[in-house]
Amino acid sequence: MSLQINTPYAPIEKINWVGLAEKEIELYIKREDLSHPFISGNKWRKLKFHLLHAETQEKNLLVTFGGAYSNHLLATAAAGAKYGFQTFGFVRGEKVENLVLKMCAVFGMQLAFVSRENYQQKDALFTSHFGSNPHALFIPEGGAGDLGELGVAELLAEKYFQENFTDIICSVGTGSTLRGLLMGIQTQQLNCKAHGIVVLKGAEKMEELFQDYPSSAYALHHQFHGGGYAKANKDLIAFIHYFASQTGILLDQVYEGKMMLGILALIEQDYFKPKSKILAFHNGGIIGLTGIL
Ligand SMILES: *Cc1c(COP(=O)(O)O)cnc(C)c1O
Repeated sequence: MSLQINTPYAPIEKINWVGLAEKEIELYIKREDLSHPFISGNKWRKLKFHLLHAETQEKNLLVTFGGAYSNHLLATAAAGAKYGFQTFGFVRGEKVENLVLKMCAVFGMQLAFVSRENYQQKDALFTSHFGSNPHALFIPEGGAGDLGELGVAELLAEKYFQENFTDIICSVGTGSTLRGLLMGIQTQQLNCKAHGIVVLKGAEKMEELFQDYPSSAYALHHQFHGGGYAKANKDLIAFIHYFASQTGILLDQVYEGKMMLGILALIEQDYFKPKSKILAFHNGGIIGLTGIL
């Protein structure tokens, strides 16, 4: 048996937005959100090598971690079902019900709610529940780590990146997607800068995560968290509605709405030079929108 994981459909589209032409900026969006309805975007990319690793290690149970609205838990549940693995998710905090967790259960994931305190001790949780099961595989929260970054990096080997975007941008939660993009830029020797729109408040220490890359290779933008992680103010919600009505593209309120608002603000402030060709990564997360509409 050999696991066959095909590259998903995730086209690049041009965004026609008022004011871009006047600034001589071209803005494109990589529709990673279209790759799968429930294994969307970077979560698919970050899981790919974990799944291949699971197969070579003869694991049949994927054990992972996430919050109650975790796109990663849902992605793992759906990917597990698709590729023939059982799945188990530790959920942070007291028991709640929502559409994300219900969909996890539909895909056969077993869920266990754990206190915020215990949630911090992920190795201990894994060992106490699965220490005696040689077929259980620990997958870090968010699909992070070297295997996750490799899956993101691989994306930049696709041929259209050779036509040179000057800047590529993603939202930043744990930062592993941005690290993957940086790895891809380096291995493919692309001549472009990576930007991260940080969605957490007070995450200035995040810079330390990227110290192994030259500081000219990337920029972290900390001014667009909009009040903090998963906080969605009226302006953001109004923007998400307006953007959808103008482009047909839905953005979630936790990550990509903030990213797009940030990109348009940076363009407005002349942060990017005229003739810049910018590519934004849309990593999905749309099911979380159901929590606020
Ligand atoms: C998980 C996620 C992110 C954040 O990715 P990190 O690698 O944790 O920085 C961004 N957008 C969406 C839609 C996500 O689900």
